[in-house]
Amino acid sequence: MDTDEAKQKIHDLSCMDDDAITVTGGEPTIRDDIIELLDLSKDCGFSIIELQTNGLMLEDKAIAKEITDRVQTVLFALHSHRKDISDRITGEKSFEKKIRALGNLSASGVNVTVSHVINKLNHADLSGFVEFISRHPGKINIYFSFVRPCGNARNNRWIVPKLSETELDICKALSLCEKKGIYYHIEGMPLCYLCGHEHHSSELLRDCEKPFVYCGPDESGHKNLHEFGKNSLKVKAQICRLCSLDSICEGVWKEYGEIHGLDELYPVFSDKEKILRNVKTFFERRKRQ
Ligand code: SF4
Repeated sequence: MDTDEAKQKIHDLSCMDDDAITVTGGEPTIRDDIIELLDLSKDCGFSIIELQTNGLMLEDKAIAKEITDRVQTVLFALHSHRKDISDRITGEKSFEKKIRALGNLSASGVNVTVSHVINKLNHADLSGFVEFISRHPGKINIYFSFVRPCGNARNNRWIVPKLSETELDICKALSLCEKKGIYYHIEGMPLCYLCGHEHHSSELLRDCEKPFVYCGPDESGHKNLHEFGKNSLKVKAQICRLCSLDSICEGVWKEYGEIHGLDELYPVFSDKEKILRNVKTFFERRKRQ
């Protein structure tokens, strides 16, 4: 997307009566016009500007400052606290850069969330990751997401673990987040695998928000990204009809079903209304922070 097109999209979005905008990519920080676009977002009236980044450019203190002076929140990709695993997942020697970037971000005072994609290489040490984040200076949130087998992952299907293989590691890590007071949410997990942490489901929390409008290059985009994801990217099993959470659960990524099938999904008989109340309370509490 060239500068003029990006500027036009920012103007268009500013007419939609929302105070938040997310700048994403590709990798937005490698654009020559990133500062100009962030400034324009502010001038257009957005009071919450979120940047999604792999963080590599932000290892440089001066660049990190230029960016963090202009945004309120940063979603930063970090898929392991271990150098060997992080570098293997990213396919480059980037771990040290990421750690320096994380230091620059937490020192800046912006709201930092690390995006952590759960996969075959890192699920066994999720609790170690939570410990690492809890020891890092500054308040850092975690956005877990179960690997969606698309892009590189589609060509590397081995990286997609079975849900049942990760269940215990995930539940332990989420409980540790609670214990350490780390704000977290988790995407791409069916509710039957969230073991009491259902109200941290990204999909349920999004239902409390205004719909996300997505503007891609050219004419690509979605007026309601959540609905698109629910209807087009997820799948459930026949047996879900017996589940008390059927009407609020999105199931699994479609590609997951193609790789591992849907036999692991199992109906639960949890109190749906109680979960929805907890989601609302958690969402409101988070908004006030
Ligand atoms: S059985 Fe189906 S509807 Fe119920 S929680 Fe699991 S995936 Fe969701």
